[in-house]
Amino acid sequence: MTGPVDRNAACSVKWCDETGTHTVHRKYLASVKGGINGGGLVGVNVAQRVQPRASVCVELTVTTPWASTAGYLLAAPSVPDIAAALTEAAERATELG
Ligand SMILES: [Zn+2]
Repeated sequence: MTGPVDRNAACSVKWCDETGTHTVHRKYLASVKGGINGGGLVGVNVAQRVQPRASVCVELTVTTPWASTAGYLLAAPSVPDIAAALTEAAERATELG
């Protein structure tokens, strides 16, 4: 179907939370106050670029009061390694704390 896009129209991708025109399908999963002193929000989403054969990825976003939101798409198979590295780094940081 062609024609003007309804800005509030739900996406045809069932799991997508975005409405209106968007370049990445996205399902918002978690939002964590991850910055120092509770500043900043780290978001974890499932995301897929709106393009043919794009793979479904894990998106990590960082939102702070002083900069625009930065996001990065991670290949799903790499995420457990990244999570393990984060956990290890956090343990070391706590030990050094
Ligand atoms: Zn969508």
